[in-house]
Amino acid sequence: MLKKYLSQSIIVIIVIVISLLIFNFATELKGEQVGLAQEISIINNPLDRLVLVNKQRRLKWNFSPPDLTTVNIPFTVVENSSRQKMRFEAAKMLENLIFQAQQEEIELIGVSGYRSYQRQLEIFLENVILFGDDDSYSSARPGHSEHQTGLAIDLTTPDLNYQLTEELGQHQAGQWLEKWAPSYGFIVRYQQGKEGITGYQYEPWHLRYVGVEAALEIVADDLTLEEYLFAQPEKLLTGKAKLGIEPPRLRFPFES
Ligand SMILES: [Zn+2]
Repeated sequence: MLKKYLSQSIIVIIVIVISLLIFNFATELKGEQVGLAQEISIINNPLDRLVLVNKQRRLKWNFSPPDLTTVNIPFTVVENSSRQKMRFEAAKMLENLIFQAQQEEIELIGVSGYRSYQRQLEIFLENVILFGDDDSYSSARPGHSEHQTGLAIDLTTPDLNYQLTEELGQHQAGQWLEKWAPSYGFIVRYQQGKEGITGYQYEPWHLRYVGVEAALEIVADDLTLEEYLFAQPEKLLTGKAKLGIEPPRLRFPFES
């Protein structure tokens, strides 16, 4: 019995590994065929607060953050799921942000935080089957999702039926988020009108933790993370911005 179970498990693992290898080979081949201007590079500082993950920069398939922790905020999923996790510092800062929202009677609900490479691969393949392999579709390829860093979270609000929709940007909850998230180190990562730079359509629900200092600078200058980092290449690659616990630098509504 045990022997049968073991041999079945081994077969399943072999199939997964082969699929991953074929998938990676196929995506790299496709990149060459369409003549992508920028090569895809592998990220070597995945633990940085400022790590840049996008369509040109990929996380390794075996990277998962060491300090994932459950974020203590309301989520759309009730079971204990890895979707409720983020890296420790980001989780604590998000809890503070959502606490302030609750004080002001703004309802924000977590949908999806950490996502493993394997889970992103499943989602991507599901989308390829349903919609075809269209790069403009918002589902990231495995290794190219910020959710794998444990620094990103998708949020929604009950008024919008708990959906991830652009309407959040016009909704009171989305506007509150855009205003206050930077004080807690988060930015709305994919902004309207910046699709050509980020490679993604407007996603008012997707927040990325970068730390308070960077978030306030990024928002003050109306930048994307790409623009912010390309202007300061030393921050892009140094690996010096590893997480600890950043003290919140809050600006409360009654302050100017
Ligand atoms: Zn997201």
